Amino acid sequence: MSESFKAIIITRDEDKKQSVAVGEMTEAELMEGDVTIAVEATTVNYKDGLAITGKAPVVRKFPLVPGIDFAGTVTESRHPDWKAGDRVVLNGWGVGETHHGAYAAKARVRGDWLVPLPQGMSARDAMAVGTAGYTAMLSVMALERHGIVPQRGPIVVTGAAGGVGSVAISVLSRLGYHVIASTGRTIEEDFLKDLGATEIIDRAELSAPAKPLGKERWAGGVDAVGSHTLANVLSMTSYGGAVAACGLAQGMDLPSSVAPFILRGVSLLGIDSVMAPKALRLEAWRRIATDLDHAKLATLSRTIGFDDIIRAATDIVDGKIRGRVVVEM
Ligand code: NDP
Repeated sequence: MSESFKAIIITRDEDKKQSVAVGEMTEAELMEGDVTIAVEATTVNYKDGLAITGKAPVVRKFPLVPGIDFAGTVTESRHPDWKAGDRVVLNGWGVGETHHGAYAAKARVRGDWLVPLPQGMSARDAMAVGTAGYTAMLSVMALERHGIVPQRGPIVVTGAAGGVGSVAISVLSRLGYHVIASTGRTIEEDFLKDLGATEIIDRAELSAPAKPLGKERWAGGVDAVGSHTLANVLSMTSYGGAVAACGLAQGMDLPSSVAPFILRGVSLLGIDSVMAPKALRLEAWRRIATDLDHAKLATLSRTIGFDDIIRAATDIVDGKIRGRVVVEM
């Protein structure tokens, strides 16, 4: 009989009320997949917070181990690309939503979902980046594809002190962009400037209903917030600019008008990390290894243990987490 290991397990009762608890499971209880991995590090993303607190219907199969990303070492593989001992990273693909996820000592997934741990990065480094940081990189790459180079003008980053925001600031500043960080935590001004933000603005400037067009303030944006904030970011984007929309911390709605699109040629670039094709993932992780300052990564992340995951999940939904949280298993 295989040994049991600790796992966080989300269940749902007959009244569809969700509960979370630390339990035990065995390898035999892992779901279908052709690669088994010893999880070495994971993280707590905003989506994990929503899953664990049940504040949004992220988990769609019960019982389920949450946790949307991990880094670890392959222990068994029937997939041609992977063998025991390979170091791998996983983000998304429904892991932690419909497939048992990261908050257990072991995970079994499809080999097609995995990417190699980038050279020179530890499992901890990869999870300091995590899905939030990889999404930030996908956003930066989308702006670049749209021709938004540093010479075009400033880039606004919303939800700046959060996971996506803090990694986006670090990467953009390293690439030479003038970064305007929008935050509700002006107390974090020094932290954001150390990451590379040139200007800090209070998120209250962007959180009320937007005018169709505002003063042109930036060439582009990375928006982790959605709702009125995204509408304001669009209305203040200069002619021909682009905004990468990746989050919904303020809300899922977009109370905007078509004015920025039809009068200023502004583009809205959608970013999805969960089902992103493998080539894009490989490119994003390659760029993370080269374009993210590892010293900054250390300053924007802190480490917690397995037993702290549930509390961190509540904190992230309450907007109390600064930067990134790494879980060392
Ligand atoms: P965090 O909680 O770390 O960061 C979110 C930040 O948004 C907070 O730190 C806060 O920044 C800001 N914020 C929170 N509430 C509000 C509000 N009511 N109004 C305005 N700003 C607010 O989360 P992550 O960085 O991990 O994720 C950010 C968003 O991106 C989430 O919505 C998440 O679901 C989404 N996401 C999407 C992905 C995709 O594939 N598209 C992948 C990963 C994340 P501050 O304190 O600086 O104001």
